[in-house]
Amino acid sequence: MRIWDFPIEMMCMVHRSGQHREIHGIMGSIRKYYELGGKSGYSFHPETIRWIGRERLLLQIHDRTAATLKNHKSPLFMPEVPQKEGLVLVDSLSDQLENILQKRYDQNHKCNCDVNKLLDWVENQIKFSHINALTAAFT
Ligand SMILES: [Zn+2]
Ligand SMILES: [Zn+2]
Repeated sequence: MRIWDFPIEMMCMVHRSGQHREIHGIMGSIRKYYELGGKSGYSFHPETIRWIGRERLLLQIHDRTAATLKNHKSPLFMPEVPQKEGLVLVDSLSDQLENILQKRYDQNHKCNCDVNKLLDWVENQIKFSHINALTAAFT
């Protein structure tokens, strides 16, 4: 489970609902982080760390994801903290695409992501690889 750096519309329902659950989990960890006063000594997953200070972006991704799911009611924690610019990737877009491709062709995952659109999108992102262009895809 993870947050994908892809437009949610290109992803299947299995990945959308997985991502939605993951966002709630990450926001829970981020809340804990701020409750501890932003101190270290508590270990956070890289997927959590990259959203600290970028909660507004994560909230936008959440809302876009939730809009494609039925009966969404769960509220999302949103800290009032200064926001950082840009997006930090844990895994490269090509690695993420590779991961999706593997799941897409493994029947057990029931993944139905639109891999052709994802391939085109990733190709474009790499061609014009400026971090702002990537962030723009989510806003
Ligand atoms: Zn939600
Ligand atoms: Zn999928």
